[in-house]
Amino acid sequence: MSLDYENDSALHEELITQVLSQYPHKAAKRRQKHLSVATDREEVGEEGLTISECDVKSNIKSIPGVMTIRGCAYAGSKGVVWGPVKDMVHVSHGPVGCGQYSWSQRRNYYVGTTGVDTFVTMQFTSDFQEKDIVFGGDKKLEKIIDEIEELFPLNKGLTIQSECPIGLIGDDIEAVSRKKAKEYEKTIVPVRCEGFRGVSQSLGHHIANDAIRDWVFGKAEVEFETGAYDVNVVGDYNIGGDAWASRILLEEIGLRVVGNWSGDATLAEVERAPKAKLNLIHCYRSMNYICRHMEEKYGIPWMEYNFFGPSQIEASLRKIAKHFGPAIEERAERVIAKYQPLVDDVVDKYWPRLQGKRVMLYVGGLRPRHVVTAYEDLGMQIVGTGYEFAHNDDYQRTGHYVKKGTLIYDDATSYELDKFIERIRPDLVGSGIKEKYPVQKMGIPFRQMHSWDYSGPYHGYDGFAIFARDMDLAINNPVWDLYDAPWKKVRAPAAAVAAE
Ligand code: SF4
Repeated sequence: MSLDYENDSALHEELITQVLSQYPHKAAKRRQKHLSVATDREEVGEEGLTISECDVKSNIKSIPGVMTIRGCAYAGSKGVVWGPVKDMVHVSHGPVGCGQYSWSQRRNYYVGTTGVDTFVTMQFTSDFQEKDIVFGGDKKLEKIIDEIEELFPLNKGLTIQSECPIGLIGDDIEAVSRKKAKEYEKTIVPVRCEGFRGVSQSLGHHIANDAIRDWVFGKAEVEFETGAYDVNVVGDYNIGGDAWASRILLEEIGLRVVGNWSGDATLAEVERAPKAKLNLIHCYRSMNYICRHMEEKYGIPWMEYNFFGPSQIEASLRKIAKHFGPAIEERAERVIAKYQPLVDDVVDKYWPRLQGKRVMLYVGGLRPRHVVTAYEDLGMQIVGTGYEFAHNDDYQRTGHYVKKGTLIYDDATSYELDKFIERIRPDLVGSGIKEKYPVQKMGIPFRQMHSWDYSGPYHGYDGFAIFARDMDLAINNPVWDLYDAPWKKVRAPAAAVAAE
């Protein structure tokens, strides 16, 4: 089945004008650059639209005072890149709140015994107090590393995830890390990801990538028997088991996944990454830096792929297989054929229930573009999409996914998002936890698209079946017919109330 739709460009242009008209002149001028409507004026062959820097400005500081949904650099490093590396202890270095409130929110699944050889869902903090700010926290950090070694001796290494005060008071976490790494003969990685760096969590991803380059690669002896079909999966954080659903497919087409970054990852997987034959990037935004480095230094090519929804899975499997030649290509075709009945069953069941439903997205990383076709595979339509922390190259890639007339918003303020949703009234909104309850209170179905709303996986063929079920459960849930907004209720006559 195919889907042919065009979004309402005029309505979306008008909406942007309306929203901007409520701002003071200076703020309107700034925000205007972040809001756009996808057009086809720059058609690029078969790849579709482009969204250039002239259309949407990105990776710029949020306006102070607006409710941005962005996170900080610490969140990008600890919460995304390093946190899921399971056999290392990740110390949130600084006051207790940063680690406490971001504790285990991304549902990075892993195999292991928590507290013995895996530590992902534990929260380690140096719990900075006033005296640490005044006199420095290096001594405390040394003591914490000693305690961790005593209590959790099976850890394979540590990372020190700096929170804001560490950079402000100038602690020398590099010196402490070097000293303790020598003492315990372990990898200890200081990460300068203080929250104030950069404009969003995006710089934290970059800093975390650089820490891998500077503190892990080439530091340990790596004994590893390599093969012709070794690949690293980079930028899959195994949310709800995503990486496992992807790995099955890559192995079925004959590849060997020697590293998965960083969902369910071990330090050894990170160390041996430069020995792979190809890096497969799922989340380009958070991990392109280290892949570019591996390409320059170790000559490993990299390739982006998308395992959301059958159209993209098929295209990606073919693209990956082509890199390895006819034997793998032939296996890829067999795998695609094997899963076709599953895809047909899912589409037959859910297409009639979801066809024509309109979706608005506002997420981070890769999802504002990567899930577009997964919805379309179910007959749904993307009317608006936007990123929290994208860069220009993300918007260029987004143009290859969205249709003409799609409303595009970068680092949207809560006011803008509310107004867009209120006016468009889509059938589903996919965004974060902060957005979930206000949207549901508007009477609009919602899915939390950062951690799959306690569900998943959504990657791979197995994930597609769960994705389709979840979207159906959200949209066609009978609860939406069971209540009226309070202002729509008919007030009972005063006499009837008195008689009760
Ligand atoms: S911005 Fe600073 S204080 Fe706030 S969560 Fe991030 S690291 Fe912690």
